[in-house]
Formats: sequence, structure tokens, C-alpha cells
Amino acid sequence: MKVISQDELPAVATLKEMIDVLPEFVCLRYPDGTWAEANRFALNIYGIYENDYKGKSLEEMQTRLSEEAIERCNLSDKRAWESGKPIKTAEKIHMKSGRVVMLELIKQPTFTKDGKPQVLVITGRDITSHKQKEEELSVALDLLESVLKGTTDAILILNTRQEVIKVNDAFIQMFGWAEEDFDEENEEYPVITPLHLQGESKEIIDLLKKGQSVPLHETQRIHKDGTVFDVSASFSNICDMDGKIMGFVIVYRDITSQKKVERALRESEAKYRLIAEHSTDLITVIDPSGIIQYVSPSHFMVLGYKEGEIKGAILDLVHPDDMEDLSEHFMRSLVKKEPFETEFRLLHKNGDWILLETRGVPVMTKEGHVESLVTFARDVTKAKQTEELMLKSEKLSVLGELAAGVAHEIRNPLTSLKGFTKLLTDADDVIRLEYLRIMESELNRINDIVGELMLVAKPQAVSFEHTNIQELIYSVVRLLETQAIMRNIQIWVNIAPNIPLVYGVENQLKQLFINLLKNAIESMDKDGEIHIRIGTRDDAVVLELKDQGCGIPAERLKTLGEPFYTTKEKGTGLGLMVCFKIIEEHGGAIQFSSVENEGTRVEIELPTAPVSTK
Ligand code: ADP
Ligand code: MG
Repeated sequence: MKVISQDELPAVATLKEMIDVLPEFVCLRYPDGTWAEANRFALNIYGIYENDYKGKSLEEMQTRLSEEAIERCNLSDKRAWESGKPIKTAEKIHMKSGRVVMLELIKQPTFTKDGKPQVLVITGRDITSHKQKEEELSVALDLLESVLKGTTDAILILNTRQEVIKVNDAFIQMFGWAEEDFDEENEEYPVITPLHLQGESKEIIDLLKKGQSVPLHETQRIHKDGTVFDVSASFSNICDMDGKIMGFVIVYRDITSQKKVERALRESEAKYRLIAEHSTDLITVIDPSGIIQYVSPSHFMVLGYKEGEIKGAILDLVHPDDMEDLSEHFMRSLVKKEPFETEFRLLHKNGDWILLETRGVPVMTKEGHVESLVTFARDVTKAKQTEELMLKSEKLSVLGELAAGVAHEIRNPLTSLKGFTKLLTDADDVIRLEYLRIMESELNRINDIVGELMLVAKPQAVSFEHTNIQELIYSVVRLLETQAIMRNIQIWVNIAPNIPLVYGVENQLKQLFINLLKNAIESMDKDGEIHIRIGTRDDAVVLELKDQGCGIPAERLKTLGEPFYTTKEKGTGLGLMVCFKIIEEHGGAIQFSSVENEGTRVEIELPTAPVSTK
């Protein structure tokens, strides 16, 4: 208990002057609540006029305080007097401006020597801004707590001695350890850094201690169960207000699955790259804006350039006539998100054009956008040449075979012509005329056969025109009739009325029928019949050819048209390939059905008007 003697108190006027200059709250109150003295600070805050306070209680004065505030004030006064000791209270004053002022007050009761209550000394300060800071801090702390709790990142807070100050729930989950496990007394002090990375970890802490920042980086950590996993880790300092380092915050994110995907991606990319690098196909990757991102090394080999000589300029090598078609395919593939196939030519370094058969495939992102276009091209220059050669050689071999038949065919009329020429000299006029008639018909026959031969043999410009299929069939039958008759085979032709003209290349169609009819004849080793029927279906002309030959095994039917398959001693195995090729070029269709040892049926459909074959 503090005791002040009456005469120790300074004169009131002096006291007032003294306390007025203090930037703090000072007020002296008598035990009955009436005011003895107050400084300007206190009067201002309470909103009391100077000279209107002495000897008055708060209730009797004009103040800013609410009734409730006055009550609280009196209550704490009372508490101070009762305890006889200084007490601390806080007062909240609503200013007229709407501002709230917080006062922190100490109420100290003083007593006379004989222990009678004398005066309550109330001092204090304005702690409004202080309070605000405190509130802000507590909000920040709450926020921090919720961040620590809410995040799926593991957060570890260390002090400068690298002792664990705090870990969050995610940390406990990710590492399998608990906060208690990190207590120093704990025997099994958790190790979360793999042995081989502890050096790295120490270096990082050293950097942090020097106040340097450490960029986010990927590393590995150990789970309590011993498994090592991939994390991305961020390290930062915690500093106090003066910038002194207080500790470190480490945030870990589990990136195992991400890494796995990355690794798988890298492996598969490496695999595909390997394939691309060693493929003889020309592989390019083009982005949707048309910029070439990848060109496989096979380009250099195929086009005769050295590495680095082409790259982006590969489009400059495209044949000018093919450019439009190619870019059209490219654009359509981008828009429709569909693969395309086409042929185009690229310039070889030596000036030759290389014919490429190419296939482009759009590569899509997960969202369904076209990310790039991958094209695979193959040099088909040689294949094309071979194909042409084969067509030619098949033609030659057919010609050769035909020649034998034709020679035979021509020899008969020639023999008779020779006989008749001899006879003519001795014959009378009537008989002579008869001889001449026979001779003329024999000559016509020779003329016809030679004409057919010329038609097949003569290289003709490939020109599509409307062709009379009936006449064509008759001439082919005539050409092969001798061969058939020699084997005792009868050929029947049945043509429906009003057969439209077929749109095609006469020469090629003739070769098609020769090849098929020859096969039919050759399939029959005993006498029999071949039936040819011509009709229509929808807009197409349909031709059916039925023989009574050996037939074709079912498993062979599927692969007919493959070159060099033959069951004949002197066969070429090219006839059907040529047939298929011709049918394809005409935009028609061909179908075989067969029963072994009974015969084969071929059905051909040919269009009557131009169709686009591409
Ligand atoms: P080639 O006649 O030179 O053997 P093709 O390509 O014309 O070559 O025919 C290939 C093979 O298909 C023949 O060897 C034969 O085995 C079979 N083939 C084709 N047409 C018939 C048919 N009408 N009847 C039976 N087999 C046939
Ligand atoms: Mg044949």
C-alpha cells in the first residue's frame, strides 16, 4: 500500500501545469468518484470542458462516455479501492468522429497515513493503434494457421538450430511422422533427407543462413516407412522485424506421380525418337501454323542433302504442281482432325523428282486441339517405276502368248489362201468367184487378228472415253476363240439389251478381258463351257464370266491380285494384278467366287460416267 502524506502533495496549480504537458492520461479522483484533478489529455479524450470537472462525478459532467461506459468506469474504481492495489483496466471511448479510442488505464488508490482512502490516481495511454496491430496480428495468425491446415503441401518450420518448430497436417501425412516425433528427447529422431542428399540440404541451409534465397527445386525425401519419393521443395527464411533470421520454412510438394508421368513420357519420347531417327520413312512434325518442327534424318539420305542443309526449307523442295494439293490436304486434316493420304514430289539434290506417298496424322492434345501434324512419307519412285515395268512386261508376255495363238490362227487361212491361189489359175469363172469370196473372208480374218494384236501392243495415250463394251467383248472372244476351240471349250456370250457405254480406256479394258478370259480357258483341262453375260446394275455395267475350271481355293481368293502368284508352269502371276490395277483406275469393282473343281465366277462392275478415284 502506497501512502502519501498531505504535505508531500505539490500545490494543485503546479500539479495541473505539470500533468498537462504529459502525452498520457492523468486523472485524480476522490473515493466518492468526484474529480480532484485531470490533465488536458484526459479532458480532451472524455470531451470535458476545462473548469467543468472539479468536484463533480462523471454522471454530473457533460462527457462523451455512454452510461454503460460510466458504469464500467465506476465499477473498476470500486475494484481498485477494494483491492487497495493498482489495477489495470481498458476503456473504449466512441469519439464524435466515429473513431474509437482504446485507453489502457492504471488505477492506483492512495491512502492517508492513518489508512483512509485519499485519492485514486488514474494514469494511462492511448493504445488504439497498438490494439489494432494486435488484432491484425491475431487475424494474420489465424490465417496462417488455416493456410497450414488447409494446404496439401507439407510445411516444416525450423529454427536456426534446425530444430522443428512446427509441421502441418499435410507434412504428417506425406512423411508419416508426427510432430512429437521431432522432439529432441525422442530416441529415433526422424530423418527425412536421403543420405546422398544431405550434403545438398546442408548447403541450402547455409545459403539461407547467409540470407540468400534458394530457388524452387526438385529433390527427394524419405517417408517414415523408408520409401524415397520425389518432391519439389521451396526454402525460405523467417525474419523478425529487424531482418534477423529466426528460422526457415520448407514447403514440400509430392511430385511422384508427376515425375512418373514425366519419366514415362520421356521414355516413350525417346523410343519414338529412336524409331523416327532410324526409320527409312521420311517423318516430319509440323505445327498447326505450318512451321516444321522436326525432320527425320532419312530426308538427307533420300534427298541427297547433308545434315543441316534443309530443315525449315523442306517445303521449298515440294514440286510446284503438288504444293496446292498438299496444303489443301494439310488444312483439311487440321480442320477435320482426320488423317490424310496423298502423293507429292520432292526435289532431289541432283535435280530429280522423288515421288513420295505420304500419310499425315494430326496429333491431338487432351483438350482436343490439334497440337501438330506428323507425316510419314515413303519414296515410291522406284515402286512406281517397277509397277509400270510390270504392266509392260505383263503386256509383253500376254503378247508373246497371243503371238503363238495368232501365228497358228493366221497360218490356217494363209494355207488355204496359198491353196486357193494355185487353184485360181485352173478354175472357171464361177468357181473362181466362189474362191475369191472365201479368200476375202480369210483375209478379213487375218486383218482382224492383226488389228487386235496392234490394239494391245500399240502404246496408247491413256484416254478415257465412252466405250462400247459389247464390241470389245466380241473382239476379245474372237481373239481367244482359237485357243478355246483347240481345248474343246465353247464360249457363250449373252448380252442384255440397251447396254450403256462404259467410261474407260479401251486398250486397258481389252487387256482386262483378255487376261480374265485367258485365265478361264487355262483353268479348264477338259472340254466345257465359258459363259459371259453383260447386264446393268444401277448406273454401272456388270460383266459376269463363268468357267467350269479347276476353281480357286478359298484361302487364295482373298489374296488374288498379288503379283507373281501362279499355279501354272508358264504363268507370270501378273495377269490378275494388272486386272485389279485397271479396275481401280476405272473406279470399278471386281469380285471372284469359286468352288474348287467346279469353276470360277468373276463379276466386274464398270462405271458409265467419270468417277473421282481419289
Ligand atoms: P497367271 O495366269 O500367269 O498364272 P494370273 O495373275 O492371271 O497369273 O493368275 C494367277 C493365278 O490365279 C493363276 O495361276 C491361277 O492359279 C489363279 N486363277 C486365276 N483365274 C483363275 C480361274 N478362272 N480359275 C482358276 N484359277 C484361276
Ligand atoms: Mg493369267
